[in-house]
This record gives sequence, structure tokens and C-alpha cells, in this order.
Amino acid sequence: MTDTLTSPDPRTVAETGRALETDSPLEILRWATDRYGPRLTFATGFGAEGCVLIDVIGRHCLPVDIFTLDTGLLFPETSDLWKRLETRYGLTIRRVAPELSVEQQAAAHGPELWARQPDRCCDMRKVTPLVAQLSQFDAWITAIRREQTDHRADAQPVEWDKKFGLAKVNPLVRWTKKEVWAHLLEHDVPYNPLHDRGYPSVGCLPCTSHVNAGEDDRTGRWRGNAKTECGLHANVGGATEVGHAGTRS
Ligand code: SF4
Repeated sequence: MTDTLTSPDPRTVAETGRALETDSPLEILRWATDRYGPRLTFATGFGAEGCVLIDVIGRHCLPVDIFTLDTGLLFPETSDLWKRLETRYGLTIRRVAPELSVEQQAAAHGPELWARQPDRCCDMRKVTPLVAQLSQFDAWITAIRREQTDHRADAQPVEWDKKFGLAKVNPLVRWTKKEVWAHLLEHDVPYNPLHDRGYPSVGCLPCTSHVNAGEDDRTGRWRGNAKTECGLHANVGGATEVGHAGTRS
């Protein structure tokens, strides 16, 4: 591979992605750590897929920076999972917080902004902090899988992220949901107990609801609102998910 991966050359990035198409998640992660060194990061929302990647990184002691966007509105179960993963694998998952606390946001923009202007709330509490983080790196790892959404169907193991201007590494891109859960159970990986209680996709507490049998996994996110994505995932040259999704079935 060449250094041109750090430039927005779609052809070079596409070639790299094709070369890694049949590699395992561990092989893709090893390639990424060799290629990008300390300029590589992983943003996780502790979805089932994110837990798989943390397990692979942790068990193989891969030198990967890991962070999570702590909106201040996480479920207690998610915060607890964060600690359990750190303890289990002996690693640190950095906390990245928005500029304003939830209270400061309420004082400046009114209470429960998420109920009135969810896009604005997500922009302040998720997108802006993520952009600031990614500007410090050359590549980031995501937990997206092709079968998750139509937007992700064309995702590659490595691709150029036009939205954020760095390379994007997607080690689980070929995996099915069944493979994700088989890995979690086989390796006894900690995961969010909410997945077993009807919450296949877990985001912020005010914007996540229970999903009924037969509903799509993401139905519980911003239920009753046209909004379906945080804004981290706009499909500009490939969709990007900071993985929250997960359910066994
Ligand atoms: S998911 Fe809801 S609470 Fe969280 S940042 Fe977005 S709008 Fe705000």
C-alpha cells in the first residue's frame, strides 16, 4: 500500500479496499495499525459490532486509540458497558464530550432540545465533537456492515471518507448480524443488556425507544420523527456508522 491513502484519491482507496476484501477483521485491523500507526482511531458507540471490534483489539493488544462520544445522555447500561469493556480488556476508551453540558445546553437553547430540534442537538452533542476528534487523525475505524442499510451496501474494508476527510476502515463490512452475535457469545464479550430487552439500536436515552417484534432495528431511534441518523453517517462517498446497533435475532 502507498502513502497516497491519506489523500482523497478515490481510485487508490478503492484499490486498497478491494485488496482487503477477503481479509478477516483482525487482518484488516492489523493492516490499519501498520499503515496508520498512532494516526488511527476508533469511534465506538458500544453497539454489538463495536463490542466485537473492541474484543478483537483488546485480545490481540492492537495499538488503537479508542474513544466514545459521551453526550451526557447515555443509558446507565451503556455507561456501565463502557467500564466493563475497559476492565475486561485493560484498555482506556477516551471520553469525548460536547462543549456544553446538558444543563448548559438547556440554559442556552431551552430544555429538551432533542424533542424540538433533534438535528441541532445531534450537531452540538455528536457531530461537532466528532469532527474535532477526526481532524487529529488520518484514519478512523467504524463498525458498519453492508447489510445494515442500503447506504452501506457498497461500503469497502477501506474507503475514503469525503465527509470528514480521512480514510475509513470498516473491518466488519462483510459480516452478517448472525456472525456478530456468534462472535460475542463465543468469546463471552460484554454487550449492552438493553439488546436483550427490545432495544436493538441504542443511542441517547431521550431518543431511543423499545422496538416491537417485526419492526426494523432502527425504528426505536427518534421514534415519531423523520430523523433516522445522527448526522455522523451521511453517505458522502460511503456511509459511516458509529455503531450502536445490535440485537441477537
Ligand atoms: S440522539 Fe437525541 S439527545 Fe442525543 S444528541 Fe441526538 S438529538 Fe440529542
